[in-house]
Amino acid sequence: MKSEILDGKVVAKAIENDVRNRVYDFEENNHEKITLATIVVGNDQASKTYVKMKSKACKRVGINTQEYILPSFTTEGLIQIIETLNEDPTINGILIQHPLPKEIDEKKCFDTIAIEKDVDGVSSKSFGKMAFGEEAFSSATPAGIINILDFYNINIEGKKACVVGRSPILGKPMAAMLLNRNATVTICHSKTKKLKEEVGKADIVVCAVGKPELIKKNWFKEGAVVIDAGYNYVNGKSVGDAESPEGVASFYTPVPGGVGPVTIATLLSNTITAAEKQIIKQKQNQNVKKYIKEVIK
Ligand code: NAP
Repeated sequence: MKSEILDGKVVAKAIENDVRNRVYDFEENNHEKITLATIVVGNDQASKTYVKMKSKACKRVGINTQEYILPSFTTEGLIQIIETLNEDPTINGILIQHPLPKEIDEKKCFDTIAIEKDVDGVSSKSFGKMAFGEEAFSSATPAGIINILDFYNINIEGKKACVVGRSPILGKPMAAMLLNRNATVTICHSKTKKLKEEVGKADIVVCAVGKPELIKKNWFKEGAVVIDAGYNYVNGKSVGDAESPEGVASFYTPVPGGVGPVTIATLLSNTITAAEKQIIKQKQNQNVKKYIKEVIK
């Protein structure tokens, strides 16, 4: 079977172009810069690299970054920083790079981020709203995967989807997003029996296990759409969580150059959306204050 590549770099470029135009309009109309605060805690080299890539992407579209690199920290200290950023009107979005060191209560920190600034969609509130189909920022990687499927006009409705992995930032929100788009969704994890069979039934498979090439090419159904969110280094080479499904899949995302670039572009898109919403709210508040002043007179 001829497989077509879902090129994440092409999708990311289209999203970045849209974001760049919106950032330009925002600054022209409001005379304000847009700023994303990024927080890295600990000495994980991969986390530092990811945040550097995100900062570079922000620069490309005209978004400022305010970077916090904290070698070691406590949950309470980190919460104080997040609360300060929540209150700061010059900060439009907050990104905490995960995973946080084990000694930090990650969930507590994520849940401290104000929902209107949670541009990486990591808090329980954002997740809950998204799962109920309400307006909220969605976790950037699964939202990026939906962007890829939409960009290439891949129909989701009525399809059998299998998500392998159930982490709070990837597998679970991915399953909810596919369900919201009317797919019939199976979620697999480390306790799933007969993983191969579950994968083999699906029209759309999302691989998010964090284990290099755990999912084998011969597990996929002929013609399946395969999305590989994995990013692992093996012998100096980046490989996905699945073997390349070339020749079996109808469409698939390559590693590298698939999900990764679109995750970053989706974060940028969420950041400009946050800034646009915040300015509308700010103007509404000013109007209300003005009205109240006039009424009191
Ligand atoms: P994670 O938190 O480690 O979760 C891994 C999930 O895979 C867990 O739900 C685990 O099940 C499941 N799993 C592990 N071994 C399994 C097995 N043998 N069979 C079936 N399921 C198994 O990882 P994550 O943060 O979701 O990341 C997943 C992958 O995506 C990684 O490769 C990561 O590098 C990549 N990623 C990429 C981006 C991007 O921008 N491209 C962003 C984030 C993550 P249990 O719940 O039962 O333990």
